[in-house]
Amino acid sequence: MSNHLFDAIRAAARDNAPFIRMNGGHIWAYDDALDLSSRIASAIDTLGIRPGDRVAVQVEKSAEALILYLACLRSGAVYLPLNTAYTLAELDYFIGDAEPRLVIVPSAARESVERIAKPHGAIVETLNADGTGSLLDLAGDEQADFVDASRTADDLAAILYTSGTTGRSKGAMLTHGNLLSNAVTLCDCWHVTADDRLIHALPFFHTHGLFVATNVTLLAGASMFLLPKFDPDGVMSLMPQATLLMGVPTFYVRLLQSPRFDRQAVANMRLFISGSAPLLAETHIEFKNRTGHAILERYGMTETNMNTSNPYDGERIAGTVGLPLPGVTVRITDPATGAELAPEETGMIEIKGPNVFKGYWRMPEKTAAEFTADGFFISGDLGKIDEDGYLHIVGRSKDLVISGGYNIYPKEVEGEIDQLEGVSESAVIGVPHPDFGEGVTAIVVCKPDTALDEKAILGALQDRLARYKQPKRIIFAEDLPRNTMGKVQKNVLRQQYADLYI
Ligand code: ATP
Ligand code: MG
Repeated sequence: MSNHLFDAIRAAARDNAPFIRMNGGHIWAYDDALDLSSRIASAIDTLGIRPGDRVAVQVEKSAEALILYLACLRSGAVYLPLNTAYTLAELDYFIGDAEPRLVIVPSAARESVERIAKPHGAIVETLNADGTGSLLDLAGDEQADFVDASRTADDLAAILYTSGTTGRSKGAMLTHGNLLSNAVTLCDCWHVTADDRLIHALPFFHTHGLFVATNVTLLAGASMFLLPKFDPDGVMSLMPQATLLMGVPTFYVRLLQSPRFDRQAVANMRLFISGSAPLLAETHIEFKNRTGHAILERYGMTETNMNTSNPYDGERIAGTVGLPLPGVTVRITDPATGAELAPEETGMIEIKGPNVFKGYWRMPEKTAAEFTADGFFISGDLGKIDEDGYLHIVGRSKDLVISGGYNIYPKEVEGEIDQLEGVSESAVIGVPHPDFGEGVTAIVVCKPDTALDEKAILGALQDRLARYKQPKRIIFAEDLPRNTMGKVQKNVLRQQYADLYI
């Protein structure tokens, strides 16, 4: 019997070598972690969970939470992690949609979650941030001799819900083959080895912290420093012992805010990787100036794992997400006709490869609508491929502004605004306008202790952007609404300013 993903993880694991390095100094060796994963897999089996059943997990970050993911792989259960910020009402939606047989939450939430889980036929067990809970009690009664369930490359390993940036989260069905092929490719492209020590400050419920960071660590037999959450001082204090950081752009912005962050601070570091949201070219350049390191930006999504990456050895170009990963095909098409476009032309980013998911959970029509006849996934992101083959993302198709019949790519307008003296960042959206259909509108955050006025910004843009691209209004804000992964929530802004022109 073979278990496609877990067999590869087991083969890469180096017995008593370190796997998870805890904040207090405790180190989980690979064999201890695999031992516990075997006991948890047995406990899951004893609870009556069979291969293909979903196990929903909404718990704080801990070593045990990560080991639970391994246990699910071994038992053949479909791992279904949920954002810890979701409320009970949201949990009700996910439980109703995914119909897990088992739901794992902290002890304090057990009673309230049982009330919503029972009607859906799910049982509830607990796991707390400190590694205690009923699931671990059950695992304690088991032997570490679990016989891994047989799983092929095509079997589901996980259902991961998308971040919900553009609408309601959708459950992406990811197979053992999707996860393994992508992790192997990333290890290779980023030269990850058993000597690497990753600083893990991302959540475990999103593709970045779970599949990119964790699977890559596992398949390289490397180790990770497990931080409950990102804080610049905590991350910086680990850098002298670490080699690798994976972060969302906000991590890098916040590190740069510390005057202590310099070449000396990163002397031991090998690589900084960014993704999940656009890294401003300005951040990339400032980071390079301050540390000598060019941040390696890559692009992926819940549905596809990683698609493109700036090169490890070649040039890492600010403002681009790099080249298609080996085995992954990326093309740009005309959103209206689906015809493939030439280099430098902007259109829909489409993706094909072993990384691309099996479809949206119980949404066959949506799945069919998001794939082309020749099997490419229509990403919903707009971009262009330049003459050197690098992909540039210009935004999401849902964020495209259509004003007076013209298409306006928000990123182009944001780029011009961000270059102005005193501007920290901006978000450009389209909101209903009686004459133009949508009015281009910019939300601008100024640098601390800087006051800018609307007229000055509009004036500065006059010679830089065609008239139809120029914002009709500039709105100043303290900050931009962001979700846990640092993504700007443009739908929130669109709602907030829906009545601006009407
Ligand atoms: P939903 O699909 O529910 O609206 P979401 O698309 O934000 O949410 P994720 O799958 O977490 O959910 O995010 C994938 C998206 O993140 C991509 O489609 C892309 O828009 C964005 N993204 C990821 N990496 C980058 C990057 N390096 N630069 C720009 N955008 C990125
Ligand atoms: Mg998406």
